[in-house]
Amino acid sequence: MTIYLDNNATTALAPEVREAMLPHLFGPAANPSSPHGPGMAARLAVGEARAQIAALIGAKPADLVMTGSAAEATHAAILGALRTLEETDHTRSHIVTTAVEHPSTLALFEDLRQQGWRVTILPVNADGLPSLSDLGAVVTERTALVSMMWANNETGVLMPVAGASAIAHAHGALFHTDAAQAAGRVPVDCGIADYLTLSAHKMHGPKGVGALYVRKGAPFRPLVHGHQERRRRGGTENVPGIVGFGAAASLAALWMDEGELVAFLRDRLEAGILARWPGAQVNGGRVARLPNTTNIRFADGRGRPVDAEELLTRLDRAGIAVSMGAACSSGGNEPSHVLTAMGLSGAEASASLRFSLSRYSTAAEIDAVLGELPALHARLVAA
Ligand code: PLP
Repeated sequence: MTIYLDNNATTALAPEVREAMLPHLFGPAANPSSPHGPGMAARLAVGEARAQIAALIGAKPADLVMTGSAAEATHAAILGALRTLEETDHTRSHIVTTAVEHPSTLALFEDLRQQGWRVTILPVNADGLPSLSDLGAVVTERTALVSMMWANNETGVLMPVAGASAIAHAHGALFHTDAAQAAGRVPVDCGIADYLTLSAHKMHGPKGVGALYVRKGAPFRPLVHGHQERRRRGGTENVPGIVGFGAAASLAALWMDEGELVAFLRDRLEAGILARWPGAQVNGGRVARLPNTTNIRFADGRGRPVDAEELLTRLDRAGIAVSMGAACSSGGNEPSHVLTAMGLSGAEASASLRFSLSRYSTAAEIDAVLGELPALHARLVAA
């Protein structure tokens, strides 16, 4: 049995979500746009799921556009906003994000820079936080949009999104937030944002489904044309996926209070590791974080970074799945852009592991992980 502590990469499908999806996977063929009974049933199911997802973030169902992923939702928000502004307001040619966003967001900003947008990438401090005074100093009446994630996927650090949104809005700029890791784990209210990104598979829903909240009246143009999603995202709806997302969102809302239990286990893991591995440190550990995440930097007895990839491999052999950072970047040789932005050297970043728990994590699992550590420490540090 694997001890799965990589829930920021993806989560297991909740049994209730699977049950909700099954009739839509194996039932009669049903396109929600079709005029017959099965089509109508699919349409109703999508509508119900949309309401469930909207409830999680305090949105109206009509404000949600279903997408194929969080990455797509973020692209739809930012490109949808900027392509509209290009036509309506030529004075705004500046966009802002942070150095610790998801790689797909940073790649989009790089693409926009090449297309002629003036881009500011805000640095973060040693705790992984951007400074609101830095943001205040760069946002002007020429800024079109600010994008800041709600919670970082590698460290769990909660970003100052409410303050950032207030600064953007004070200058007439739009505000987008990527809440893919936060929604379902901490309370998320769409009220602060013009656009908000969600992902089903980070909250025990299926992969390949995301959603974008678009504030009523916020500029938007579809990335993919078609009549679905009120003409805001073409393509036949992924009915089982959307139904699963709805079920996952409802369950996440019910489980939100259990976040304390997850945090208790995370803290037990973190304290246990620090006690068993002299010189280990928590990256981003001094500030508010998601309850399920800890990112730990491992050092040898003299404070020199150890090779976390070897640690990861040995944990994997012991049936414990953790990660070195974003799933898409682990496996590559590049040190984490998040940790280096926090001031870690490449070697220190490569000495760091992310442990991300879920509501299904147990004390026995945490104790089993801690039980492996003394031998691993002896092997890696003595070696
Ligand atoms: N945004 C953040 C903060 C993430 O952690 C992830 C997933 O790793 C994504 C976006 C991408 O999510 P999806 O796989 O749904 O595109």
